[in-house]
Amino acid sequence: MQFKYDVIIIGAGINGLAIAKAMAEKEKKVLVIEKNHIASGASSHSSKLIHGGLRYLEHFEFSLVREALQDQKYLLDNYPDLVKLRPFYLPIYKNSKRPLWMIKFGLWLYSFFAKHGEKPMEISKEDFLREFRAIKEENLKSVFRYFDGKTDDSVLTHTISKEAEELGVEIAEKIELRAIEIDDNIIQLVTSDGTVETNLLINATGVWVDEINREFSLPSSYTIEKLSGIHLVIDRVLVPEPLILETSSKRIFFIIPEQETTTIGTTERSEDSDVDKIRINNEDVEYLLNESNNYLKKQLTRKDIKELYIGTRPIIKSQKDLSVMSREYKLDLHHIGQNRVLHVYGGKLTTFPSLARKVVKLLIN
Ligand SMILES: Cc1cc2nc3c(=O)[nH]c(=O)nc-3n(C[C@H](O)[C@H](O)[C@H](O)COP(=O)(O)OP(=O)(O)OC[C@H]3O[C@@H](n4cnc5c(N)ncnc54)[C@H](O)[C@@H]3O)c2cc1C
Repeated sequence: MQFKYDVIIIGAGINGLAIAKAMAEKEKKVLVIEKNHIASGASSHSSKLIHGGLRYLEHFEFSLVREALQDQKYLLDNYPDLVKLRPFYLPIYKNSKRPLWMIKFGLWLYSFFAKHGEKPMEISKEDFLREFRAIKEENLKSVFRYFDGKTDDSVLTHTISKEAEELGVEIAEKIELRAIEIDDNIIQLVTSDGTVETNLLINATGVWVDEINREFSLPSSYTIEKLSGIHLVIDRVLVPEPLILETSSKRIFFIIPEQETTTIGTTERSEDSDVDKIRINNEDVEYLLNESNNYLKKQLTRKDIKELYIGTRPIIKSQKDLSVMSREYKLDLHHIGQNRVLHVYGGKLTTFPSLARKVVKLLIN
């Protein structure tokens, strides 16, 4: 690491790296400091969807969905090998908590906002059951198909990291941040690899944002709720294409086929402990197995699980129902003498292009 940078970013997740790349495109000298390794946080523990979030429509989060679908189109066009459009199947059963008209309207609105041109449609039950042999027929009422994006979150994040490095961004991994000293003229960061200086510090530590602010007494306008979600990786392919399903409590979950496995997720749990102490909870594993088994002919057990992973995201506090809480991000800028400190609160994997663009607009005239 050199001594003085135009911008220092803490956190090498998708957001920190996308901001680093966007700043380097503006010819800024950028350093990214990461305590672990690139994409070690939420950016490699997500559902790996590049989507607007169909379910956010029922909470009237139209601007979030529209923006995410614009980002989806950008990513489909610019990273065609990494972000693929896939058909998602939405089977509706007799005991579904959502009325059919609502689902039809939601799918229509979602495709109206999406820019990829693929329209949703109703599929015959017979065709669906012929292809999705593992799925129960009992009480199946209708089936819809729509299109959304799928990626590998870790590979995508590493790709953005490489692009940032090609533009001159320095990324320092396994760095311990020991102190942040701010006076009117300069911000100094004391790290395990030496001291570095800047006038612009960006805190892109995702769900660690509060912990950094607390430890280093940084000014901030928000605090967060930590919301974790687990995924089960089943040791074989259960379905030919992704399925979107409803839990008995009206939540949404996905069964997503990979090349040789199937990913099922996710759960939502509010966490009180430090982020690094968050662990997979047995209750959540049972919950996902039970909810999946409601739809599967052959019941899954723990023996079918090849791998489990947990990710945690920040949700800005003050919002009430966790499952409804907005996934919208906030940029929180503070001026201290000649210095600026920017905190990034939230931001989906999908929305990193627009988030990075907004950060540049906010910071560079
Ligand atoms: C269960 C789950 C499923 C999700 N599914 C989807 C999905 O399908 N589609 C979608 O668009 N979004 C999804 N998301 C959201 C998405 O994963 C996150 O919004 C995104 O990855 C956040 O990226 P980030 O860069 O802000 O944070 P992170 O990727 O968490 O990066 C923060 C980085 O900061 C580092 N850091 C922390 N403290 C320090 C420190 N003191 N010093 C240095 N570095 C530090 C961490 O090690 C980490 O690498 C999901 C999230 C979860 C939790």
